Amino acid sequence: MPLKPRFGKVHKGLLIATLSLLVLAVFWRPEPSDAVLLPPQTLVTSAKPASKTPAAQQTTQPEASPEPPSTAETAETAETAEQNRPESVSYNIEPGDNLSAIFDAHGIPKGTLYNLLQADAEYLALETLQPGTALRFRFDAEGQLQRLTLQIDPARTVTYDRIEGGQFEYNLNTLPTHWEASVIRGDIRGSFYTSGIAAGLSKGQVIQIGQLLKSKLDFRRDLRAGDTFTVLLGREMTTTGPTGNTRVEAISLHRGRHDYNAFLYSDSNYYDENGESVTPAFLRYPTARHYRVSSPFNLNRLHPITGRRAPHNGVDLAAPSGTPVMSTGDGIVKRIGNHPYAGKYIEVDHSGAFSTRYLHLSRILVKRGQTVKRGQRIALSGNTGRTTGPHLHFELRVNHQPVNPLTADIPTSTKVPADKLSTFESRVREKLARMRVPTVMGEDYAQAPSGSVSRGGQWPASWTDHCTRPGQCRYQ
Ligand SMILES: [Zn+2]
Repeated sequence: MPLKPRFGKVHKGLLIATLSLLVLAVFWRPEPSDAVLLPPQTLVTSAKPASKTPAAQQTTQPEASPEPPSTAETAETAETAEQNRPESVSYNIEPGDNLSAIFDAHGIPKGTLYNLLQADAEYLALETLQPGTALRFRFDAEGQLQRLTLQIDPARTVTYDRIEGGQFEYNLNTLPTHWEASVIRGDIRGSFYTSGIAAGLSKGQVIQIGQLLKSKLDFRRDLRAGDTFTVLLGREMTTTGPTGNTRVEAISLHRGRHDYNAFLYSDSNYYDENGESVTPAFLRYPTARHYRVSSPFNLNRLHPITGRRAPHNGVDLAAPSGTPVMSTGDGIVKRIGNHPYAGKYIEVDHSGAFSTRYLHLSRILVKRGQTVKRGQRIALSGNTGRTTGPHLHFELRVNHQPVNPLTADIPTSTKVPADKLSTFESRVREKLARMRVPTVMGEDYAQAPSGSVSRGGQWPASWTDHCTRPGQCRYQ
């Protein structure tokens, strides 16, 4: 706005000085510093200072250092050049740990942590540190962090490798895995939820099954004591053991003379025995209006300075701050966080292989673990984290892999394609047969020491003839 003051020179000078200070005060945004953007507790769920406090900690920068990452980086060499630092250090996350304290304890400057978080903004892998997760730091002769390795699960390792300019590059290494299924049976006593938990299903699996079958029956009204269910539960395995990831491969709920079924198909959707989709349909857009795409999904995006691959794992929608954000499908809020680069964000787990992420939010309206419906308002969009302006970064992932949310095949209540229907039906027959007839137990169950206690009671002496009570036995 143009100013036309009728003052003398001195007044003019004073006015300009005051205005400049005001403008500075209003628009000055410091680079990320602990106080503003990185409450340590937000990085890992609970907060307890790292128990180890080596001498190296004393050489790190003061907490309140306002230096931006790039400047801090140049100071790093001098500050951490220690003769005795081992080349490689491992650390296992303990309950209450947070990244900031762990980095302090290892004498790694804040600037390095911020550069790692920047490399992780499209992935948020460092945001899921659980107790027991193994971190490995590799340093060079000058004591500079060269690589951080993060073991996500026995099949997946993420590395962050130092590249030019003190930045880091994210790489995911995956071992080959396969799925092994076991059968879980249960009977209805009380609600489906309590019956499912009693049978050995997780909370997430029970909710997912409820969402898959809700178009077929009303769980509250239609279920009776004595109804039974059978679940084919897949567990992801490496050649040496389970990764900890599971998926519901089939569900059959037996009520009177009726069976209500859902089967996972190779397109990651669920269908009934006739090939009709039972996966709740998804919305294409997370906002009521369709906003301009300000930055497209691009797995091969190149970094403008380094020239290296720097994928954009979602689509940026030019929604003004405060725009209501909707979950695009039924699901469970898996994560909520506040990241120095991704800002306030939400991740929602949907049926089977799908998940969605919403970044740079101004307000979050749901809690972790909450069940959400398609179209439910979960947040308001915003401009948090490192952005060039207000927008909504929206991601869709299938089997943990980002896909273009605006073009990907999303569940839309369709049928198995006609030319694939006979193959689908024969797979359904196989699965149903497997769910009906107990077979030989799998290795991991067979290895259970005799007398050890399973969820339903004593491990049976014979694996082939122990299912006398539904809900208390598992078959492989
Ligand atoms: Zn984006």
